[in-house]
Amino acid sequence: MRTIGIIGGGQLGRMLAMAAARLNFRTIILEPQVDCPAAQVANGQIVAAYDDAAALEQLAAACDVVTYEFENVPVDAAERLARSLPVFPPPKALEVSQDRVTEKQFLNGCGIQTARFHAIDSQDDLERALADFSGKGVLKTRRLGYDGKGQRVFRSENDDPAGAHLALGGVPSILESFVPFEREISIIAARGTDGTIACYDPAENIHRHGILHTSTVPASINGATAEAARLAATAILTALDYTGVIGVEFFVLADGTLIANEIAPRVHNSGHWTEAACVVSQFEQHIRAVTGLALSDGARHSDCVMQNLIGDDIDDLPVWLAQPNTLIHLYGKTEARPARKMGHVTWLA
Ligand code: AMP
Repeated sequence: MRTIGIIGGGQLGRMLAMAAARLNFRTIILEPQVDCPAAQVANGQIVAAYDDAAALEQLAAACDVVTYEFENVPVDAAERLARSLPVFPPPKALEVSQDRVTEKQFLNGCGIQTARFHAIDSQDDLERALADFSGKGVLKTRRLGYDGKGQRVFRSENDDPAGAHLALGGVPSILESFVPFEREISIIAARGTDGTIACYDPAENIHRHGILHTSTVPASINGATAEAARLAATAILTALDYTGVIGVEFFVLADGTLIANEIAPRVHNSGHWTEAACVVSQFEQHIRAVTGLALSDGARHSDCVMQNLIGDDIDDLPVWLAQPNTLIHLYGKTEARPARKMGHVTWLA
């Protein structure tokens, strides 16, 4: 095993490529954008669309295993690759996580609680579903939503739903019941090719404008809630016969009950803290998993807070550089557009 193909050229691919290099693996990135963050630190880039047949063939010929850094990789492309070489995580994980209805059905099938939900295909569906949830809920597109995009929150019966389905593009959607959560957590877990599972400690996440702002570890949850998160992640990894790192996001109710929100079949923004507070980061853990190496146990040596640098936050770099016990990681993006993830910092307590 020598060369790892990575579909997607963003910061997650970049950090995977860096971790791979330390273990003597070469990486090739499939990404249409030239000079993307991942290609800057990888051994090669195939500049093409993710579903370009010739490019996929070229990637398969050049690599020993293929992985990906985002969950909207076309399932067809992953399945096509899987006919000629191992693709980890399995394409089934993409299928499950690309559609919020399929995802919730899968989670419920694993015995994991989610928000109640209705599939929405019309304004009529929406109004019926809202009536069922006493006028409260979160309307989301079923596919291709991220960082809170493609969503509409209904906070009370006075919130007028007129035109709401069309405003979301009239695409297949989901109405979720409104979860009165006390906090949000996520857990990063990994499964090796031999079925070994290792979990990192859950992180407590704060979002701003729908984008992750900070992840704090340890989360303010009790041992039973942390164990429930580990058990849920374990059930998901096992059900998917998974190889690689996964991120699972949960809402935590006042009594500690966990409500799963979504799964990400990849390394996850809320796991960036592991590069500073654990000996083996989520990125190395993923590379170990997909190449059949032994996993780390996920142990953490420090408490920490990870903060994303979004858009102009990058201007605070001198402040972070002056901060003790702080690891800075920048993504090689030249233009600091609003809402764009430019880097992150992790402060060790
Ligand atoms: P998502 O795109 O599903 O991660 O949602 C973005 C954010 O919206 C979440 O992190 C929550 O803060 C909030 N949110 C999403 N779904 C719900 C829900 N069913 N009930 C309450 N808040 C929600």
